Amino acid sequence: MNKRTQIVAGNWKMNKTYQDGRSMVIDFLENLRNTDALAILCPPFIHLQMVSNLIKDMASVRLGAQNCHEAEAGAYTGEVSVEMLKSVGVDYVILGHSERREYFGESDALLAKKIDQVLAHNLRPIFCCGEPLDIREKNDHVAHVAQQLEGSLFHLTPEAIAKIVIAYEPIWAIGTGRTASPAQAQEMHAAIRQLMAKKYGEDLAQQLSILYGGSVNAANAKELFSQPDVDGGLVGGASLKAGDFATIVDSF
Ligand code: PEP
Repeated sequence: MNKRTQIVAGNWKMNKTYQDGRSMVIDFLENLRNTDALAILCPPFIHLQMVSNLIKDMASVRLGAQNCHEAEAGAYTGEVSVEMLKSVGVDYVILGHSERREYFGESDALLAKKIDQVLAHNLRPIFCCGEPLDIREKNDHVAHVAQQLEGSLFHLTPEAIAKIVIAYEPIWAIGTGRTASPAQAQEMHAAIRQLMAKKYGEDLAQQLSILYGGSVNAANAKELFSQPDVDGGLVGGASLKAGDFATIVDSF
């Protein structure tokens, strides 16, 4: 039995009006049974304050943002700083999601700067990594993810690394309904933990929560989360249904 924090983070992406988001959070809180695992709600920026208010009495539910800017403040029209996120109660920031990498050109080096900025304000990054299908088919997935970890995380001190949550999200499984098998997820999570152990030592690697993301749903979560190195999930589509998301948080 490990003592790692079990986490389910819900990435709403660009979905839900303010009103629909509000109803869904209320519904989710009413359905939530498992308060041992941490549930992290990651709505769009404009919903953060509202969600923050709704979860303020729930120790096992936390607030996450889907992105941030790497600078402290300034002339960056349309962007949101970490200090602003912190001021409305955000504790976690998703960084390195494959959609940000692909559609917004976010590189490993830029992500390293964003991670530094998040940590400088004492918030915690949820760092996403994962390979596209062609890389998996060439059996290069471990090397690909190793490069992502090295490019964005390996400049950090052990104290800083201890604050990171890693989310392994094979791109071919995101939003496709094609989930990695529990064995595929376990293989990759163990490999990630080994890479972190090689750089930072076994003790630290054993403390890191590594989440699986890619078409997690209410039916498959239990088997995925039962793998020894899978400490929870980063959930997109199924986080948009209150009952399903509560069931996933209940799946440990
Ligand atoms: C995600 O966007 O991080 C994700 C895993 O999405 P989905 O659960 O819809 O595959």
